[in-house]
Amino acid sequence: MLKADSTVTANMNEDSFSSLPDSEKDAWLRERILEIVGPLGMITEEQDVAPYVQDARGRYRGETSLVVRPSSTQQVADVVKLCAQTGTPVIPQGGNTGLVGGGIPLCGKQNVLLSLQRMDRVLDIDPVGHTITVEAGCILANVQEAARTVGRLFPLSLASEGSCRIGGNLSTNAGGIAVLHYGNTRDLALGLEVVLPDGRVWNGLRGLRKDNSGYDLKQLFIGGEGTLGIITAATLKVFPLPVQIETAFLGVRDIDHVMQLYSQARSASGDRLTAFELIPRAGMEFGLKHVPGITDPFDRTYPFYVLMDISSSEAGNNLRTLSEQVLTAILEENLAEDVVLAESIAQAKNLWAIREGVVEGHKFEGAVVTHDVSVPIARIAEFVRTATAAAEAMHPGIRVIAFGHVGDGNIHFNFHQPVGEDPGTFIARAPEFNETVYDIAVGLGGSISAEHGIGYVKKSHLKKYRTDIEIELMRRIKRAIDEKNIMNPGKIFD
Ligand code: FAD
Repeated sequence: MLKADSTVTANMNEDSFSSLPDSEKDAWLRERILEIVGPLGMITEEQDVAPYVQDARGRYRGETSLVVRPSSTQQVADVVKLCAQTGTPVIPQGGNTGLVGGGIPLCGKQNVLLSLQRMDRVLDIDPVGHTITVEAGCILANVQEAARTVGRLFPLSLASEGSCRIGGNLSTNAGGIAVLHYGNTRDLALGLEVVLPDGRVWNGLRGLRKDNSGYDLKQLFIGGEGTLGIITAATLKVFPLPVQIETAFLGVRDIDHVMQLYSQARSASGDRLTAFELIPRAGMEFGLKHVPGITDPFDRTYPFYVLMDISSSEAGNNLRTLSEQVLTAILEENLAEDVVLAESIAQAKNLWAIREGVVEGHKFEGAVVTHDVSVPIARIAEFVRTATAAAEAMHPGIRVIAFGHVGDGNIHFNFHQPVGEDPGTFIARAPEFNETVYDIAVGLGGSISAEHGIGYVKKSHLKKYRTDIEIELMRRIKRAIDEKNIMNPGKIFD
């Protein structure tokens, strides 16, 4: 084994490192990284490494020489410097909840998977400036809780919030159920601290609401999927905590009426609409069938349902009256067929369980091909109608489930196999299904990825659906910031 003394370290460069046999490379790196992060910061045993190199659905399995878990920005910087010196790829990982293989090492075994798990401290909460500063490894639910303790709301909220980490949310520009009112992660970020691919630290944690001094550099790293640097901390916006929340569930006759209802509810509530989720009947049935405790609040069935929250941080109970007025007007204008306004927190939770039941229940319905696309909000109805008809024509019996966050134009457009069909036969058609859905979404001015990013899975689609100028600019940015291509190589681009 090579000795990691300071002479060897100083003399080691990319050429001398690459001339070593793989086993010596591993040994050398391990020894050096151990000096930086200590034993708690390194995982090398195969069974302990396994959860880090596989995605949550078990679709992508990568390999790595070692998993490194630094506990400070300085440690991240020292590890990255070493990787830059030796040309070793670095794959940043947060909660590993992304589903496009973005945080999985898929570039050969010789790489360092850098997990932010141990960097999970809340660094500062400023209730006056309405900001919270956290390390990148903070679990999203813990950021929400920390804000709540000082009477503030951190509004980013998604089903994976108990496991995803803020660095991952930033790197994928995550959205969720409150985007229509508070914006997605990009809108919530005021400043970042980033370790660059050469190991230097950029401290951009200024937290200013207004800073017009040159390019807004943080935007490059938000949605960058770890290909330009490692986010180590962030200053984020928080808001006054809502104290009144009204939850309503509505039965709707078709998708066009869902969209009219959205527009009406938003303006009639004085822009207090904070969630607006679309649920199709077939998706609701997945929950009713497979998830205990879910009940249908109506006696009749409807093709679509809408779950909405109207909230306010104003004290008092005037929101109830306002919500009743909004819903009465919706019924009078025939935008919905039936409505339930939750009478208690428990009933509101039951209504939200119907939405969560779509995701829980779908796992028991055989093979599924998923699409997380977005289109301009005004074209959602057109998208759902056109893409549903195209799917049914392509594969008779297919079960199309369009659900999700209407307020940010982000539709989960899932295709379930016909009942009784062989799952393999259905999955084999996934590339055709993808192409059809992406063509329709992009044709309507939409995007092929509204969640998770591009990662490893959607690289070829990115090339097809973004313009040559866009791809060229992206590549130039990548080359300028990560000259040696060590930051999450093979993600977004080849
Ligand atoms: P990971 O999966 O670990 O990583 C994702 C990407 O970010 C990878 O490319 C990785 O390399 C990079 N990365 C991670 N941390 C860093 C860092 N510190 N610096 C640089 N790069 C980094 N998304 C939505 O937008 N809206 C939703 O409503 C939504 N709901 C979801 C529900 C479920 C059940 C699941 C499983 C996922 C959902 N997602 C949703 C996907 C969403 O992208 C992720 O849950 C989350 O944002 C990723 O965070 P993570 O910490 O798990 O990142």
